[in-house]
Amino acid sequence: MDAKKLLTVWETGRSAAPLERAILLLAVGLDPTAEETIREYPLGLKERKLLTLRQQLFGPQLEVVATCPVCAEQLEFSILTTDLLQTAPRALPETAELPLDDVTLTVRPLTINDLILAQGDGRALFERAVVTAVRQGEVLASDDLSVEAAAAVADQLRTLDPLMALTFDLTCPACEHAWSAPFDPLTFLWAEIERWGQRMLQTVHTLASTYGWSEEDILNMSAWRRDYYVELIRS
Ligand SMILES: [Zn+2]
Repeated sequence: MDAKKLLTVWETGRSAAPLERAILLLAVGLDPTAEETIREYPLGLKERKLLTLRQQLFGPQLEVVATCPVCAEQLEFSILTTDLLQTAPRALPETAELPLDDVTLTVRPLTINDLILAQGDGRALFERAVVTAVRQGEVLASDDLSVEAAAAVADQLRTLDPLMALTFDLTCPACEHAWSAPFDPLTFLWAEIERWGQRMLQTVHTLASTYGWSEEDILNMSAWRRDYYVELIRS
């Protein structure tokens, strides 16, 4: 993605909800297919694509900061997108069977669209993931299923699509508390785009006010050339 496109994505995405932001980024950055296709991505594929896009925009190394929930110590560590991508299978099964006592469930990985349609309702999300539920040959309605079934489905979904909920197992160096910290590629990448965008507009401002060049001309330059001119102005 060139500077002009990324700047437009930043500007458009600032006022969008996080899922719409992810769709926008993936549509412009990686996938020339229609947005409708992206909405059908399983959640792990969304994370895979966002990590791939991050790698293309800013390189493979992520500098992550986590806060210990017990003593508030800040942990800093780096991790490679390539390592994260290797931990999960590329192709997901379309459905999987989940036997639970006398009921057999058929579940499918959740997609971006499922998240949008469920509007934060966990039960609705669970019902969307269950394709069929059968007890001794009889098909059950989704509202007949227990809370335990919902928990088992959630576990099964994470097994089917491991990238859908990325976590890091951390141990605090100060208090030795061990926990599993969730990692959201979109939040991470968007914060970087935010910083990048602010720097880029500052650069445009510096070059435009010194040389009188247009924003378009400045954005069309290579990053190296822009930085070189900024250095000349400062020296
Ligand atoms: Zn701690």
